[in-house]
Amino acid sequence: MYKVGITGGIGSGKTTVCKVFEVLGIPVFYADIEAKNIMVKDLLLIEGVKSTFGKESYFENGKLNNKYIAGIVFNNEAELAKLNALVHPAVFRAFDTWETQINSNTPYILKEAALLFESGSYKMCNTSILVTAPLNTKLKRVMQRDNVAAEQVKAIMDKQMSDQDKSKMANYFINNDEEHSVIEQVLALHKQFLEVAANLQI
Ligand code: ATP
Repeated sequence: MYKVGITGGIGSGKTTVCKVFEVLGIPVFYADIEAKNIMVKDLLLIEGVKSTFGKESYFENGKLNNKYIAGIVFNNEAELAKLNALVHPAVFRAFDTWETQINSNTPYILKEAALLFESGSYKMCNTSILVTAPLNTKLKRVMQRDNVAAEQVKAIMDKQMSDQDKSKMANYFINNDEEHSVIEQVLALHKQFLEVAANLQI
């Protein structure tokens, strides 16, 4: 099945864009939501986390000890890389399972991931979209959505790969600023993907 990866920095509006694709009937795999689910579901991942970070990574009732893990990986690149090396392959497995459940008449599918490029996930997609918005717009939207301070959002932004670097790797772009219509841009891309997917099936 034709796979489209979609990404963007915090607050760029990638989830919002995906919701528009969903309205058009396109199934979306939300990698970041799935990553949270599998932390307590994927046995291979759970074992990996326990053996890497210790049994304290999970409570007796099987719940993830978020505070403990965050304390280890926060501001520690090496430990974060270890966690990602466990989580990313597990998300890939979850995506493969999800894909097998998609109706075979579906023209194409979307994979939404904040770390599409960083995780190597884009290599498993046929093409990719980068959602962009001006920094101040992103900041304002996240502050409003999460009710958090600007500094908190900026700290996350500073740790993310820049849009400039991401744009070198992306095939398509959606400008989600306050002037352009997201719906029109999604419709235009949808039309293109339908054509590409139809040609692939010939
Ligand atoms: P994150 O990386 O934090 O998951 P995201 O890239 O998925 O963020 P969204 O959650 O889709 O971003 O959007 C951030 C906020 O901005 C949401 O509250 C959303 O409703 C709002 N938003 C997104 N696009 C627009 C738009 N074009 N106009 C107005 N508000 C928007």
